Amino acid sequence: LRTGHAKWGVVELRFQPLAAPGWLGIITSPIVLLVSFTASASFIAFTIYLGKMLQHLDPSRAVPRRVRSALDTLAEGLLVVDKDERIVLANQALGSWVGQDPAQLLGRKISELPWVRQEDAAAADDPWSQAVKEGGPLAGIELGLQRSDADEVRLLMVNATPVLGQDGNYRGVLISLDDVTQLETTKRELQVSKVAAENANRAKSDFLARMSHEIRTPMNAILGYTDVLRQGFDESISDRQDYLDTIHFSGEHLLALINDILDLSKIEAGHLDLELQPVAPYPLLDHVVSVFRARAAEKGIQLELAWDGPIPATIVTDPVRLRQTIMNLVGNAIKFTEHGSVRLVARVATDNGRPQLAVDVVDTGIGISQDAIEAIFNPFSQADTSITRRFGGTGLGLAISLQLAEALGGKIDVTSTLGEGSTFTLTVDTGPLNEVEMCSAADAQSTGASPDASPRTTLRLPPGRALVADDGEANRKLLQLVLGRAGMTVVAVEDGRQAVEAAREQEFDVILMDMQMPVMDGYTATRTLRAEGCRLPIIALTAHVMQSDAAKCREAGCTGFLAKPIDMEALVSLVADQVNFADDGQPCTFDEDEVKQVVAEVLEAMQTSFQQRDFARLASLASSLHEAATVFGLHEYTLGTTRLELAARRADRHECRAILATLLGPQAEPTLRTSALEMNLELPPSDLPHVAAPIRSTLPADDPEFCEIVVEFVEKLHAKLDEMQAALEDGQWLELAGHAHWLKGSGGTAGFHDFTVPARELELSIRSRDIAGATRGLTLLRAIVGRIALPENAHPVA
Ligand code: ADP
Repeated sequence: LRTGHAKWGVVELRFQPLAAPGWLGIITSPIVLLVSFTASASFIAFTIYLGKMLQHLDPSRAVPRRVRSALDTLAEGLLVVDKDERIVLANQALGSWVGQDPAQLLGRKISELPWVRQEDAAAADDPWSQAVKEGGPLAGIELGLQRSDADEVRLLMVNATPVLGQDGNYRGVLISLDDVTQLETTKRELQVSKVAAENANRAKSDFLARMSHEIRTPMNAILGYTDVLRQGFDESISDRQDYLDTIHFSGEHLLALINDILDLSKIEAGHLDLELQPVAPYPLLDHVVSVFRARAAEKGIQLELAWDGPIPATIVTDPVRLRQTIMNLVGNAIKFTEHGSVRLVARVATDNGRPQLAVDVVDTGIGISQDAIEAIFNPFSQADTSITRRFGGTGLGLAISLQLAEALGGKIDVTSTLGEGSTFTLTVDTGPLNEVEMCSAADAQSTGASPDASPRTTLRLPPGRALVADDGEANRKLLQLVLGRAGMTVVAVEDGRQAVEAAREQEFDVILMDMQMPVMDGYTATRTLRAEGCRLPIIALTAHVMQSDAAKCREAGCTGFLAKPIDMEALVSLVADQVNFADDGQPCTFDEDEVKQVVAEVLEAMQTSFQQRDFARLASLASSLHEAATVFGLHEYTLGTTRLELAARRADRHECRAILATLLGPQAEPTLRTSALEMNLELPPSDLPHVAAPIRSTLPADDPEFCEIVVEFVEKLHAKLDEMQAALEDGQWLELAGHAHWLKGSGGTAGFHDFTVPARELELSIRSRDIAGATRGLTLLRAIVGRIALPENAHPVA
């Protein structure tokens, strides 16, 4: 600087750039900075906004409408999810399954849908995640899907396929879902019915196996022992009686089994008809006890009946079914008790205000384990087969009893301790008891004496007239006999028409009408009589035992019904019930002598019919004797009469004669033999060998010494046969047996083997005292002897 021209000072100017030189300057320039800031802020805001936008946008709109509606018509459900497993497409079917509009599902995570996973699959990945992991399609995975607005769960079969973009990268998953609810239900139902069918099949096989066992066991005894008896080995009388007892017992067991099965099937088919009527409970229980008294005594156990509290004079129930149930419980108690006692304690109880009769059957027997108690009421089940097999039984009794108890308005309860005993409590409805007289045990005991205390006691009927109409001579005779002995006068006719005529012409107090008769059957005869104003009691007799048959008889006008074979005691008491006799029937006993005489009469009649060759009459007499034998417990006649009836029906003279010989005893043999000879009981021609080919000895008869043996044998044979004939006619069985035995051995020795078998058979017939068989055997032997051709070098036999 100059002042004027002079230098005054110096001013120094320095310059500095505003920004860094080069790029740095540009970058750090505020404008650039401003622009960069604004740009990055906008970018961030945009990205967030776009993401949100995209989430809310319907990407399925990208699907053309036609395709969309096609997808909606599919029955299968369809879902597309993106990489984040958010739903980007759902069709109508799927929406309807979850109960929502498909549009509402978009953008939601697929896992938010109400899936129902099976328990064992809970831990596993969902099929779509799994498909992604495995990088390939996955098919047939089962999943449940619940409707949001209902309890209903649909069973779906899920297929998942990963979707790849054009670049080959994974974009999402396509999921198709098939509704298999119906299919699965059907499958399960099928499975259930398959199991049920298998169970039923197993039950059927079990049933058959048990039935076959139950039937075979007594059958074996029957066949085995009858065979032993038929062979006629030398058993003692008491052995024979034992065998017959076993056979009888086995037969009874079979019958019980069949009755049980029929009962059970009737109950199960709902055909159980109850006949409710007033019943005095004390005598009924007393009767059951009296029936079992002998069996209990045999086992040395006490059997008693006690009543707790007052006893109703009558209750309304079905006496037959009630008795059957109590009999079963008491029978079991005695069966499963070896020591101690069986007690019946009865009382009046109530169930929901209804009066009931309760009977405890208390035993000190083997008891039942807690596990088995449930099962014993099932058909065929036994608590412990190993133990109970020892006691026998079918395992049906309790099943039937329980059903009967339920039908009678009650039930059966059990308490039991293994090894100590059991208590079975039966309850049944009694009907209202307000107006029923209550009595003490002493009164009940004195008024209601057991009807069967003495099994052979029967009522003596006051004089009266009975008309018996039956086409079977045997039945007529039997009815005549029983009613006659009970004190009635009996007129017997053979068919319905005769019955109608007799009833018109004569006075009767009761008519016993067989329902199946020739000329006019019992139904028509009864109807005719009723139409004519006949008011007599008419008791129907029929072999049909169904309830419906009884009803049919009642419809025709019968007042009573008896099933054949007729229980004679029931017959007499029914007649006593139905007829208004002037004075009351007094009990009386058929004494043994009377019974014996009746039997002797029938036996004699049989012998006569045999002599007269009246086989039809013989058959009917046999059946009549069979019935009498059953009624009066004459077991020695029960078996023989049945066989005789069958043989007589076949008109088999030999068999009839043999059976008659056993039935009539040795004193009848001469008469029988005479009639047999008169009847010419020789071998029927058909039994004789047709071609009488000569028989030669197998010994070398050309050798003189052998020839001599043969000739000697043949000579002796002729003499033997004559001796045998004589022995047979004189009833010398021992002698006869000796000859037959000789023949059996020596025939073969002499080279005549044809004799061995007939001689053995003859011997068997002789052992069983079978006259017919022996006669036939001898005739056959004679025929064989007649065919013997002697060796040429032999001297002819005289
Ligand atoms: P069953 O006696 O013919 O075998 P049930 O149906 O009458 O048939 O009885 C079934 C099973 O219940 C018997 O086999 C037995 O195991 C058991 N049971 C029944 N009553 C008694 C009882 N009083 N004591 C012990 N066990 C019993």
